[in-house]
Amino acid sequence: MVQNKSAIVVGAGILGLATARALSLKGFSVTVIDRSEKAVGASVRNFGMLWPVGQPDGILYNRAMRSKTVWKDIADSIGLWYDEVGSLHVAYHTDEWTVLQELHTGFSAGGRPVQLMGSDEILQRFNSNGLLGGLYSATETIVDPREAMAVIPAYLHEYLDVQFIWGQAITTPRLASSTPICRCSALQSDSRGMRLSSSRRSRSRASRSCNG
Ligand SMILES: Cc1cc2nc3c(=O)[nH]c(=O)nc-3n(C[C@H](O)[C@H](O)[C@H](O)COP(=O)(O)OP(=O)(O)OC[C@H]3O[C@@H](n4cnc5c(N)ncnc54)[C@H](O)[C@@H]3O)c2cc1C
Repeated sequence: MVQNKSAIVVGAGILGLATARALSLKGFSVTVIDRSEKAVGASVRNFGMLWPVGQPDGILYNRAMRSKTVWKDIADSIGLWYDEVGSLHVAYHTDEWTVLQELHTGFSAGGRPVQLMGSDEILQRFNSNGLLGGLYSATETIVDPREAMAVIPAYLHEYLDVQFIWGQAITTPRLASSTPICRCSALQSDSRGMRLSSSRRSRSRASRSCNG
């Protein structure tokens, strides 16, 4: 556990909240700053689909599954709605059906929970004109992004002591050459917003992407 380390995360969208959670679990004292009074960006305007099946095998699929586990852990602990509906990709042409069969073979070999379904099995749920079959995957999950973004900041504050500053825009990050990534010694506020004091320009992204 890292002691006496602090980090500032700019932006309270889902990436900012995920970064804040990860840094906090690594022992950082985290403050999240957002220019709005609440999250209003892409994270509240999306379809809420947690979609591991779209990722290629290896690092990206494993990361997507870990992300889904984190979502479920948080949702279960605070009563956030989600529905593990899975997903269904359907084929109306033989080349599409061939692709689904190839995906099924590869996915099954990798241990993914997928099954090929004949058209008879999905007739009741989809227009079946010309339908040859589909690829069902059990990993996909739907969440309500507006509900999630409204309550996850409170969850991070209560469980991980993450601090939030709302309604404060960050301008012109400048980190001192001696300042470690993810650490900010001071904040300066002026009429245009709050500035991170000091640091390397090339390291300004650290406030959003530090791995600790
Ligand atoms: C129509 C649509 C559908 C989508 N569907 C899905 C989906 O089903 N599944 C999925 O996984 N992804 C989906 N996405 C993508 C997903 O929504 C985004 O990748 C994700 O929300 C990006 O999160 P973010 O935290 O980077 O950005 P944002 O949610 O936009 O958050 C950025 C935050 O930073 C703050 N900010 C910006 N500049 C400053 C500053 N200078 N100072 C302080 N604060 C600042 C903003 O106020 C904002 O709150 C969809 C996207 C769209 C547009």
